[in-house]
Amino acid sequence: MAQASGMLGDGSKAVKVHHLVKAPENTPESVRRRESWDATEPATVYKTPEILPDGTHCTAATVIFRTRGCAWWWKSGCTFCGYFNDVRDDVTADDLFAQWDEAKLRLDDFEGCSMVKVYTSGTFFEDRENPPEWQEAILKETHERGLHLVIEAQAQMCTPEKFAWVAERHPGCTVAIGLEAYDDAVLRFHVNKGFSPSSGTAPSICSGRMA
Ligand code: SF4
Repeated sequence: MAQASGMLGDGSKAVKVHHLVKAPENTPESVRRRESWDATEPATVYKTPEILPDGTHCTAATVIFRTRGCAWWWKSGCTFCGYFNDVRDDVTADDLFAQWDEAKLRLDDFEGCSMVKVYTSGTFFEDRENPPEWQEAILKETHERGLHLVIEAQAQMCTPEKFAWVAERHPGCTVAIGLEAYDDAVLRFHVNKGFSPSSGTAPSICSGRMA
């Protein structure tokens, strides 16, 4: 991981904008703590009651992966969600596959679950964040096993091309986005997640089920 250097820097070149953000998450202690996590184990897994899109009550398994984090965080220093606390810059595809195996082990191979929520502290289908072969494996396996998949995405990543790619591999899966406010100024200056209702990236096209 690049050395966190704070607002004034230490003379070395910053790799990503978020390394320049003077915030508690960039103190040497916070960086040390993040890098102490085992990259082959998911951040956490659990089961909860849920409701399928057709209204049926079910049990959902949630798997929160330890990923490389959100591209918008790298680019803009966005810290809105706080998920950067669960990431490492050096997570590999092998690590992600190992985390998936570990999640299935801890969750009895999704015994009794009809839904699986896969959260990556960013956008599931962002190729710089998560290797495409790993995305593809998760999409296909959950589809083949008849598990309703829920993934997350940042709104501006939801392009028709990406949706088509995802829908080909897991028709009917749900892509969730977070719209914390409907006010352009609040979204731009307080939330800073990179989109607004009037920006041309309409959140309404970015949530819902894949046909
Ligand atoms: S864009 Fe969303 S996922 Fe990415 S850092 Fe900001 S709040 Fe978190």
